[in-house]
Amino acid sequence: MNHTDQQGDDDSRADRVAGTFGRLFGGPPDGVWAAPGRVNLIGEHTDYNDGFALPMALPQTTLLAARARTDGRLRLHSAQGDGRVTDLTVAALAPGAVTSWVSYPAGVVWALAEAGHPVGGADLHFDSTVPTGAGLSSSAALECAVAVAYDELYGLGLPGPELARIAQLAENAFAGVPCGIMDQMASVCCTAGAALQLDARTPEHHRQVPFDLRGQGLRLLVIDTRVSHDLGDGAYAALRAGCERAAALLGLPALRDLPAGDLPGALQALPAELAPLVRHVVTENARVTEAVSRLREGDVAALGPILTTGHASLRDDYRVSCPETDLAVTAALGAGALGARMTGGGFGGSVIALVEAGRESQVGESVTAAFGAAGHRLPRILSVTPAEGARRLAPAPGTR
Ligand code: ADP
Ligand code: MG
Repeated sequence: MNHTDQQGDDDSRADRVAGTFGRLFGGPPDGVWAAPGRVNLIGEHTDYNDGFALPMALPQTTLLAARARTDGRLRLHSAQGDGRVTDLTVAALAPGAVTSWVSYPAGVVWALAEAGHPVGGADLHFDSTVPTGAGLSSSAALECAVAVAYDELYGLGLPGPELARIAQLAENAFAGVPCGIMDQMASVCCTAGAALQLDARTPEHHRQVPFDLRGQGLRLLVIDTRVSHDLGDGAYAALRAGCERAAALLGLPALRDLPAGDLPGALQALPAELAPLVRHVVTENARVTEAVSRLREGDVAALGPILTTGHASLRDDYRVSCPETDLAVTAALGAGALGARMTGGGFGGSVIALVEAGRESQVGESVTAAFGAAGHRLPRILSVTPAEGARRLAPAPGTR
């Protein structure tokens, strides 16, 4: 999609959500904001180890039409929700007080207030094109839309990494999901045409890395396996705890502090169940550094083998892949993809595949056929480009 098409698409979606907002709440919104989902190119399960990652924003976004309220009420509705308007009071927000999808956006309002920011109520209507539960961070898109909207509605002027921290706090403490900061940093801070070089220890030092897929005759496919294994949440927390235990045993603040040269000794010293986790984190951080170097040289195709090695590490050492993601990777590579890996936390979700332009349908059809033959539900396949992070759509910036 070119820039003008994207603009026209954004404008018509913004008009539509503003219209629905009017029917739900009466009158126009103060503004319409958009926050994207993401795929992570490389650097998986590293953010909560204070390590590196390289995500990019997706063209798929969550739109939010919002209007500030002076009476402290918080009313929320989503086109992807249960059809109801949830009516809350900002002063009564507390972890555990709200369940369901509402905990993500309400959690952001709570987190802003917790951090001492002078925020009040609002009417909020969401409408999203980010697939939910597909490992593409629809949850971060939902949170970050609220964060950027509140930042403007309440004149906070917070920098992007601070908004990302607030959104992460909402997901951790209010929605009860122990995620790292990558998803929220990607949704807030990515820019079009670039991947985001993230150091989770110092998110404010993030950098944009040019990622010119099309200029290099390449495409990035997202293969949504449409499986989400329920063991995901508990397993994520257990892996995180395992990494923290390993760092403590090694006397390090975080696994990020283990130099690659010290890895063999550390593997010897650690209990057998922790050693593979540490090997994944240390080698994965090195893969991010390597990928950034190749992209800075303009060699996008060099990402291919890095992706595939990263998948093997997640499958064999971190053990967060599953038959469906392994099959998508194998089938994509068999059909000529330059590289492929699962992306996101694992146990299902999505796979990314780097392919030469013109080979998208060959790769897509092979993966679909392999899923059919294995008796899996058929995957959903998108071709994506690195898109803009969270932003206001309407009124257009500068016209108010
Ligand atoms: P992911 O972030 O990979 O999509 P998560 O399990 O972290 O998967 O988040 C998915 C959840 O986020 C959904 O089950 C739902 O509760 C909530 N969610 C995301 N987007 C929306 C939306 N537009 N409307 C309502 N709920 C949403
Ligand atoms: Mg999520």
